[in-house]
Amino acid sequence: MSRAQLEGEACVVCHKRWPRPRARVGRFPDDSPVLACADCAEALTPAPMATVVAFPSR
Ligand SMILES: [Zn+2]
Repeated sequence: MSRAQLEGEACVVCHKRWPRPRARVGRFPDDSPVLACADCAEALTPAPMATVVAFPSR
């Protein structure tokens, strides 16, 4: 896992840095959030997260 991922600047699944991952899919042992982009979060969490990860309309 890269430093960017550990710091929440890149998606933990696909390493994408933009759009910035904003879906919290877990936490690291040091209590920092594990962040994933909307697409990966959707794949990771079966529950609908549309309201959590909704991006401003383009
Ligand atoms: Zn991703």
